[in-house]
Amino acid sequence: MKAIIRSLCVGALTIVVAGALAAQATAAPRDDGHRPRANQGRIPERAPREAIREGEHLPSGHVNDLPHVNHDHWYGHAEAGDARFHLSHPYEHGRFARLGPSFRYRVARIDRDRHMFWLPGGFSFEIATWDWPLFADWCWDCGDDFVVYDDPGHAGWYLVYNVHLGAYVHATFMGA
Ligand SMILES: [Zn+2]
Repeated sequence: MKAIIRSLCVGALTIVVAGALAAQATAAPRDDGHRPRANQGRIPERAPREAIREGEHLPSGHVNDLPHVNHDHWYGHAEAGDARFHLSHPYEHGRFARLGPSFRYRVARIDRDRHMFWLPGGFSFEIATWDWPLFADWCWDCGDDFVVYDDPGHAGWYLVYNVHLGAYVHATFMGA
C-alpha cells in the first residue's frame, strides 16, 4: 500500500512539475518590442502601388498627410512627377535587394551631417533632404524597427519604414 501511495505521490509530483514547466514555457517573457505597433500590428507586405499625394481623413475631421501607413494603405506619398525625386543616375551605387517584411533591421550607424545611415552589413543610405526632419525624430537604437521597400513611384529611391511609428521616408542606396 505504501508503495502505491509513494508512486501516486511521485506521479502527482511529476504532473505538477510538468505543469509548472509548461506554464513557464507559455509564460516565457515575450519580446514586446518585436510586435509592430503601427498598421494594426502588421508590417506592410509591399510598397505603395503608385505615387499619389493622399492624406488620411481622420474621424476628428483632420487630415493626416504625413508619410505613413495605416490599414496597409500608404498615405502622404509624393506625386510621381515631383521634381525633387529626379535623379540623373538612378541606382548609381547598385540596387539594394533585401527588401520587404522578411528583412527587419536595426540601424547600425548614423551620420547626421551627411543625412546617412548604415544597416548591419555596411549597407548605407542617404535620406532625402526634405524627409530628414521626419527621420531625425526616430529612435535609431530601439531595435529591429526598420524595413526597406523599393519605391515604385520614384525611380532610384527606396522607402525606409518604421514599423512602430508607421512612418516612412525616402532614401537612396549608397552602396555597401
Ligand atoms: Zn516615393
